[in-house]
Amino acid sequence: MAYKLFIPGPVEVSPKTYRARSAPIVGHRSKDFSKLVGEIEPRLKELFYTQDPVFLSTSSSWGVMEGAIRNVVKKGVLNCCNGAFSDKWFDVSKRCGKEAGALVSEWGAPVCPEALEKELSTNKYDAVTIIHNETSTGTMSDISALSEVLKKFPDVVSIVDTVSSFSAMPIKKDELGIDVMITGCQKALAIPPGLSFVSVSEKAMKRAETVEGRGYYFDFLEFKKFMDKSMTPSTPVISLIYALQSKLDDIFEEGLENRYARHLENNKIVREWGYGYGFKLFPEEKYGSISLNCFKNNLEVDINAVNDELKKNFNMMFNCGYGKIKGVTFRISNMGDETPATMRELLGNLDTILPRYIKK
Ligand SMILES: *Cc1c(COP(=O)(O)O)cnc(C)c1O
Repeated sequence: MAYKLFIPGPVEVSPKTYRARSAPIVGHRSKDFSKLVGEIEPRLKELFYTQDPVFLSTSSSWGVMEGAIRNVVKKGVLNCCNGAFSDKWFDVSKRCGKEAGALVSEWGAPVCPEALEKELSTNKYDAVTIIHNETSTGTMSDISALSEVLKKFPDVVSIVDTVSSFSAMPIKKDELGIDVMITGCQKALAIPPGLSFVSVSEKAMKRAETVEGRGYYFDFLEFKKFMDKSMTPSTPVISLIYALQSKLDDIFEEGLENRYARHLENNKIVREWGYGYGFKLFPEEKYGSISLNCFKNNLEVDINAVNDELKKNFNMMFNCGYGKIKGVTFRISNMGDETPATMRELLGNLDTILPRYIKK
């Protein structure tokens, strides 16, 4: 049974995007393919706010998240940990055989700029990982404040995961000085999963040249060599690149400012709806994500039963918490193609279910 997805990834895919995906395949060494990529990459750069190349990786985001570690970490990597994905990244760094340290914040707290500065001052690290929008807790760190700290450490290569915030709000890579910026296709871009993106600065490329054990599939130098010809090192997921082309048309037709404003409005509608019932946000309000809301289940409703009814009666679903906060939180995504009208439709449906579950 296919439900309309209000989970924070993968998100609902439009019929137009599905149709674009089914165009006939071309050879990945053909002129047609380079023409396709050559037409896509400048628009991706615009979305990344960068002059650096943007590489297309046929993998989920974790592929390039692991790849970034393999490419740029020589001395040691500091992993900023404040939720399920960022905690996992620390584990991945160690699995790659790197010296790794964790800057731990409580789940629901953002990455703290002062703590970051203190930790980088130990001089133990030449790379740092930060998750801009911790999807597991709906927490968004202050990337401007963090990037001001990073500017004081020119020898540290910054790796920033923008998987669930990219294109829902402006994240200006070059202005912020982010070296390696990563995102995926199945969150705010609302493309079926399987494609991810990584934009790599000159500084990070220079570092990669000196790092051994980069492997092949995620080697930044391989990506660069082929992207110079508007190609990918190996056969990519061409169908999703068609879907991306179509999605970029949608995005620039809507206009970036309109797109950002729509995400913000969607988000606000859901947040106020939750507050109306008496739910609290899981993170501190000013660090609440703009692409989803992670609510505390402080009313102790049987959230799984609510979701089951929503599925059964309305063919829609949200998410009942991730990792160690499963059941004690719930998350509603507002990213991708959703509009105030579609968000209100979901909430209206929930209004027919939820009151019966709230203990008087
Ligand atoms: C979804 C998500 C990931 C993992 O993405 P995959 O495509 O499943 O590899 C990583 N980081 C964040 C912040 C995410 O939201």
